[in-house]
Amino acid sequence: MTILDTGVKYARNVGSYTIGSGSISELRFLLDRRRALGQGYVVFFVDDFFKNNEALLGKLAPASGDEVLFVSTIEEPTVQSIDEFVSLLRSQNLIEPCAIVGVGGGIAMDTAKAVANLLTNPGSAASYQGWDLVTNPAVYKIAIPTISGTGAEATRTCVMTNKDSGLKLGMNSDHTVYDQVILDPDLTITVPREQYFYTGMDAYIHCIESLSGSYRNPIGDAFSQQTIQLCREVFGIGDMMAAENRSKLMVASYLGGCAIATSYVGLVHPLSAGLSVVMGYHHCVANCIAMRAVEEFYPAYFSEFWRFAETQEIDIPAGVCVGLSDEKFDALFNATVVHEKPLTNALGEGFRRILSKEKVVSLFQKM
Ligand code: ZN
Repeated sequence: MTILDTGVKYARNVGSYTIGSGSISELRFLLDRRRALGQGYVVFFVDDFFKNNEALLGKLAPASGDEVLFVSTIEEPTVQSIDEFVSLLRSQNLIEPCAIVGVGGGIAMDTAKAVANLLTNPGSAASYQGWDLVTNPAVYKIAIPTISGTGAEATRTCVMTNKDSGLKLGMNSDHTVYDQVILDPDLTITVPREQYFYTGMDAYIHCIESLSGSYRNPIGDAFSQQTIQLCREVFGIGDMMAAENRSKLMVASYLGGCAIATSYVGLVHPLSAGLSVVMGYHHCVANCIAMRAVEEFYPAYFSEFWRFAETQEIDIPAGVCVGLSDEKFDALFNATVVHEKPLTNALGEGFRRILSKEKVVSLFQKM
């Protein structure tokens, strides 16, 4: 047994998916089928970016008795925010929906996953942070991504930060995987350009980390290679947001999620988690900032990443750790090295010898 022997060895992908322009119209059919099974109501978790978007809300077509909850994207999910949603549903006796639908980016999709697990498993969100701790199957759930890259629609985790302990770790479980995914590239037309780039790069970074790691799965590798190829087509030339490229990036995000569902990330994600936990940066922009520090670990991908940013004329924040106190650097170090699995995957079981305090601080100083 090694630290990397977990449920990812037996890969679980989403139950089924549909893709294409206008495919969100399939939702009504899918939900009608679920409603016919008995308990008839549906709980929607919708990115609050769409709060006043009547066109999108109309397409979701909630029925009377359904609950539509808007998910704030100011902060990424915390175990506390997840517990609050679960308490809210329990207080309204909405504990056995026939389906949960997550509509939005990684935050909304991950929130829906976490709540779906907790409605069928006792206790609080914090008690399931880790690998393979969820025992009962979750509520049936559908993902409708409206931005591409995190792969939340396909992964077996839902990332949450515990504000008390500072631990940023999801519920890694087969039960976290969505039953159905609707991939409609029309939904990404309105994404701001920078956000589109940062989020799209999450798919690329997941796959460069997987392919560079020691824990390999030949099917995961194939997913990763194709994801990187699609990212090259989307970001390497021309307008990344052209209709064809939005469709390609949606595929890349999904395949990247499938890749990561059967592998581990590497060094970029732990550094990024440090920036998120200690400084509040959102996951995808934090990844891009962390890419400033990893040339010695991923030289070819480092060059390619910065070519993409240049081609698409995207600014990545710089100098974010200038003038930080020693306490902040301590916190950044601790929030990075706590991620033993990805760091073992990237650097081996002796990763702590490579990532000394001084080394980690020097990496953050490059950001
Ligand atoms: Zn990521």
